[in-house]
Amino acid sequence: MIVFDLLCASGHRFEGWFGSAAEFASQKKRKLVTCPTCGASKVERVPSATRANLGAAEPAKAPAQPVKTPDMEGKDPFAIAQMLYSRMLDEMLTKSEDVGKAFPAEARKIFYKESPQRSIRGQATSEEHEELLDEGIPVARLPLPPKEGLN
Ligand SMILES: [Zn+2]
Repeated sequence: MIVFDLLCASGHRFEGWFGSAAEFASQKKRKLVTCPTCGASKVERVPSATRANLGAAEPAKAPAQPVKTPDMEGKDPFAIAQMLYSRMLDEMLTKSEDVGKAFPAEARKIFYKESPQRSIRGQATSEEHEELLDEGIPVARLPLPPKEGLN
């Protein structure tokens, strides 16, 4: 089934459902397609407003909106970004195991599957960090706010 937007000679717009474009043409020829408002059999297909707009309407809701919670109301974007970052950090800190200075060794063990797979955090010197990256081990440096600094 396809739906056509139709316009009668008097300007009434309505929708017609047809099995195919050919069926519409055939029904129109036999004057079987009539305007539901005035009964006119002189109708024309018009571009569907609904579907013509769909392309433009879809992307409008596509951009991901950052999650906003009531405590963010009225805050400037920078404050919100800090809040989101601090939440992400909290989550990371609660869900990861602090291995302290053993971090580089432990990260390596996990990568080579010598240790159970899990999220860890800890300290690494710049050199150690570089070495891990050189070995293709995914590690990230996170600047921690002073109050949540790793001890
Ligand atoms: Zn009409």
